[in-house]
Amino acid sequence: MSVLNELQATLDVSRKSWLEAANDPACDFSIQNLPFGIFSDARNSAPRAGVAIGEHIVDLAVLQASELLRLPGAGAGASAAVSETVFSRATLNDFIALGRDAWRSVRIQLSHLLARETATLRDSAGLRERALVPQAGTTLHLPVQIPGYTDFYSSKEHATNVGSMFRDPKHALMPNWSEMPIGYNGRASSVVVSGTPVRRPNGQLKLPDQERPVFGACRKLDIELETGFIVGRGNALGEPIACADAEAHIFGMVLLNDWSARDIQQWEYVPLGPFNAKSFATTISPWIVTLDALEPFRVAQPVQEPQPLEYLRHDGAHAFDIALEVRLRPQGVQEATTLARTHFRHMYWTMAQQLAHHTVSGCNTRVGDLMGSGTISGPTTDSYGSLLELTWNGQNPLALKEGGTRTFIEDGDELTLAGWCQGEGYRVGFGTCSGEILPALG
Ligand code: MN
Repeated sequence: MSVLNELQATLDVSRKSWLEAANDPACDFSIQNLPFGIFSDARNSAPRAGVAIGEHIVDLAVLQASELLRLPGAGAGASAAVSETVFSRATLNDFIALGRDAWRSVRIQLSHLLARETATLRDSAGLRERALVPQAGTTLHLPVQIPGYTDFYSSKEHATNVGSMFRDPKHALMPNWSEMPIGYNGRASSVVVSGTPVRRPNGQLKLPDQERPVFGACRKLDIELETGFIVGRGNALGEPIACADAEAHIFGMVLLNDWSARDIQQWEYVPLGPFNAKSFATTISPWIVTLDALEPFRVAQPVQEPQPLEYLRHDGAHAFDIALEVRLRPQGVQEATTLARTHFRHMYWTMAQQLAHHTVSGCNTRVGDLMGSGTISGPTTDSYGSLLELTWNGQNPLALKEGGTRTFIEDGDELTLAGWCQGEGYRVGFGTCSGEILPALG
């Protein structure tokens, strides 16, 4: 069977796992998913590479050491040495740098090993005990070392809402918005993995009744419901990535919460864009879902009018059918309230266009670079991806399930993003992306 046929077989809906939890139609980590991450546990405190399946993590270093997993092209010299230890490292960067053939080979081998009819691991209690770790009780780490983080602004609904609120509803979109995926260079050093508490930032606040700003804790702390993609193959300085080739440069996707201090942002953002309002933290989900796993959920992006300039054109479908939601749970409360449900397919600019635009100047990207989609808002008032929009800058408070209301985030609130592709009887899910807000430093 050719590699592409074998890859296609990993997406076969009828393929089930001997790990029964993975076959639940509502389980994020089906055998069709196989997302990559970095984990550690009580038995081995060293962070290492794993793949989520059902309620377990497959320890890739153990599989490789047991010769149940081989990397292609592990030939002579330095590359062989890299391949032998690539799963024992604290980030996925070196594995990702081996290239798409390696990612695909691992996916094909794992899909086979975990399939119901494959006895190798299924029937060996000793191997299973070493290679499978229950997700409960493990620590998930930031999956990649992120050299650079860029955030885009690619939802037309979001840009229109923000433009209406802060400028003029009649001219909500700036003329450049429909011509290019607007973006800015974010702060890579403060990207954290889901579960990391986030401290409310202090900064300059410009109150409407005062001439000069005051210094203090952010009063309008917000989320931005986004996805992000991880660059899997970089480009050399001066050599742009063509739009048609861009998806081959993407390793996979994560959920991303671009925490935002709206009051700090409103005062500082002219003329160079957000700075302290965004740089204090960005949270991503721990599992990277590969584009290969997302392939069955490829859908057409919205029609783009005007037609983009030549370098931003690509044929075919380049959006993905990913359902998204955001939940808020106040401290000490059992049940979270779902604040919004939305969809990645609404995004106007595609990931391929974002990467083509990012590099058209000659800007280089590197393995592990993180690119945020921009806040994902849908067309209805319950499908907005930020509290700024959901409450219309605090004018319309949201009611919480167990009582109380919210305009912006309060101390102790835990915000959770969730996302998944729903297939026929199975899911390709992202897990969750959470963070609890700690009080500002006094
Ligand atoms: Mn953002």
